[in-house]
Amino acid sequence: MARYIGPVCKLCRREAAKLFLKGDRCHTEKCAFDRRPYPPGQHGQARVKFSEYGLRLREKQKVRNIYGVLEKQFRNYFATADHTKGVTGENLLSLLERRLDNVVYRIGFAATRNEARQIVLHCHVLVNGKRVNIPSYLVKAGDRISIREKSREIARIKDSVANAESRRGNLSWVELDKANFTGTVKTLPVREEVGLDIKEQLIVEFYSR
Ligand code: SF4
Repeated sequence: MARYIGPVCKLCRREAAKLFLKGDRCHTEKCAFDRRPYPPGQHGQARVKFSEYGLRLREKQKVRNIYGVLEKQFRNYFATADHTKGVTGENLLSLLERRLDNVVYRIGFAATRNEARQIVLHCHVLVNGKRVNIPSYLVKAGDRISIREKSREIARIKDSVANAESRRGNLSWVELDKANFTGTVKTLPVREEVGLDIKEQLIVEFYSR
């Protein structure tokens, strides 16, 4: 299961947007994008005008980086979204939101999606009482996601749960029972609840070239 392991702040600077990949640090004055809001590299401050293709490519890369998915898997998600009834762009975002690592992050067990991925990989997460260590596992409405009893003492997880409200905001499709370290997927996420500044139509156009 490959993943991007390079410097993440460069990704925000490249996409000219805060992708919030470093958790709490993103909300402090240490944020690299706030300090240097231009692309990385020697010519980062040069003025660049994107072509139509470039705009679509950047939007696709931005979403890929937000969810921590590599190109091949992202393309597979798009193919599934395209074959599903409904609006392709919205289907794509819904699929990405249903990934177990994203749901663990959305519920509030982790400060970032990357951290959530690690929690899943290290077998700290149960889905409906059964251990699942696949970050790309797609959750369903009604699933109960919990932290294994032995893992509830891990400082990072305890801290994330304690600060869950401030991090996750007002999400109505997942619910957290702090006392039992258990979250419930009440419904599948719809576009309005994704809450990210994404122009999914550009991604559809990118893959429909
Ligand atoms: Fe992006 Fe800023 Fe967070 Fe770094 S600290 S990941 S630049 S939002």
